[in-house]
Amino acid sequence: MAILDVLTYPDPFLARVAEPVKIIDNKIKKLVDDMAETMYDAPGIGLAATQVGELKRIMVIDVSEDKSQLRVFINPEIIKKEGAAVNEEGCLSVPGFYDKVERAETVMVTALDRDGQRFTINASGMLAVCIQHEIDHLDGRVFVEYLSPLKSNRIKNKLVKRQRELEREAELAQPRQRIAARA
Ligand code: ZN
Repeated sequence: MAILDVLTYPDPFLARVAEPVKIIDNKIKKLVDDMAETMYDAPGIGLAATQVGELKRIMVIDVSEDKSQLRVFINPEIIKKEGAAVNEEGCLSVPGFYDKVERAETVMVTALDRDGQRFTINASGMLAVCIQHEIDHLDGRVFVEYLSPLKSNRIKNKLVKRQRELEREAELAQPRQRIAARA
């Protein structure tokens, strides 16, 4: 297994729509396993394939406290939504920012598991929030897009600035690494 790089908002890749998975082969299973490892390592409670640069309709979720209930959703579809609830959300692609988002309170979702078996669940609470958040990623949407333009622009600008700083630091660190490698 491997830990994958998670794209940071506003990377344009995060706005793309993922394609359904046609065959669950070993490559897809490896992606699922790597996504789970990446999610647990972060640590996060959910991760969509789009966030690791794969336009495939796959997401992994574990909202349990002891991180023992991995749920894999391949080609997920919401077939019923009920009620409305406001919850604070965060995102591995939007590090350091949290805000309130209104979504359906309960959702009925059908998907394939890692073995290609179809399952349908009724989700509420944190699981319902997470399912809707991750399906949004598969449709090219990030939670900050639900916030006011003022808030979402502030988040975008801060993340762009932080990204530039990280790139500059990496550039500065490079010559030193080269010297160290030669020593
Ligand atoms: Zn997210």
